[in-house]
Amino acid sequence: MPPRRINDDYMDSDSDVSILGDGDSGARSKAKGKGKATDRGKSTKAKGKAKEQPYAWEASYTRSWDTVQEDEGGSLQGAVQDLIARGRRRRLLAPASAIRRTIIRHLILLLDLSSAMTDRDMRPTRFDLMLQIAREFITEWFDQNPLGQIGIVGMRAGLGERVGEMSGNPSDVLKFIADRHKLEPVGEPSLQNAIEMARSSMSHLPIHSSREILIIFGSLTTCDPGNIHDTLDECVKDKIRISMVALAAEMKICKDLCDKTGGQFGVAMNEGHFKDLLFELIPPPAQRAVSRAAGAGATNPAADLMLMGFPTRLPNTSLPSLCVCHSELKSEGFLCPRCSSKVCDVPTDCDICGLMIVSSPHLARSYHHLFPVKSYKAV
Ligand SMILES: [Zn+2]
Ligand SMILES: [Zn+2]
Repeated sequence: MPPRRINDDYMDSDSDVSILGDGDSGARSKAKGKGKATDRGKSTKAKGKAKEQPYAWEASYTRSWDTVQEDEGGSLQGAVQDLIARGRRRRLLAPASAIRRTIIRHLILLLDLSSAMTDRDMRPTRFDLMLQIAREFITEWFDQNPLGQIGIVGMRAGLGERVGEMSGNPSDVLKFIADRHKLEPVGEPSLQNAIEMARSSMSHLPIHSSREILIIFGSLTTCDPGNIHDTLDECVKDKIRISMVALAAEMKICKDLCDKTGGQFGVAMNEGHFKDLLFELIPPPAQRAVSRAAGAGATNPAADLMLMGFPTRLPNTSLPSLCVCHSELKSEGFLCPRCSSKVCDVPTDCDICGLMIVSSPHLARSYHHLFPVKSYKAV
């Protein structure tokens, strides 16, 4: 039975479910043949005609209105607010204790630009939604990880395509995906080609930084030149963490990629859930214990000291000179404390001497992940 339209508030947060009953069921049942979704759907939800069954991963949402209680005024508002608040609380409570985390992060955002992204099951299209949420993600990611860098790789027409080089400047990264016409979806995706491209652009990174690949994948196929399991083994060897948000359904190889590299995998049920899944990946990941040779400090075996330099900022009024990163003549910039070469932006690695240059506010802002504030007691 389709849910009644109860109030606009509720429909906004979970709009995909509301259309299940009225007319989209043709498209739904057509797609249902693919993947293993139907098997699990039967086991979790036995009632109802087979044709009207939603995806298996929508089961918890379908059931949510079986459990909500109307309040004395006959309204469902309170119950819905409670459900939302419960989800939010769970997210806030998670990082309560201090864990060792990687605060210097390098992330390659791998965007699916195959023709599967033109599908309209998420409004307006998967592609437009992906770009919009990716922009929000990038802004928020840099806000919480000021020492991190993001690069962007697209996969379309069977190839991996470098959309933007690794950069620590949010506005640079946003510029890479600002023009949707340059990213127009076409052809088949190739997971292997794209992951290989992402891997090669992270091979030079030092060991103290994290190497992460985040894939937004809308297709149910991948068209690879070789054995993707070899690529997976290489990623495990290089300690690359692969996380994925799928827009269609769960594929075995995608799940394997995430599980074996220590990443997270999720299938988006609707627009809101897509964003939630992506934003769950913003806090820095916990660092896995590194086994060191015996004899290293016993109390804190994996502690690393690393060199960082705090640069001197040049005012706008200083004499113009060439920067080492773009060879442009400009007056403002930052001086590397070791070799005194001029770079445009921090944080970055000095192009001349390789020293990591950070500003102290960036470093301080990253600290709250390492020493989290205690959660507030609800009164
Ligand atoms: Zn420059
Ligand atoms: Zn330098």
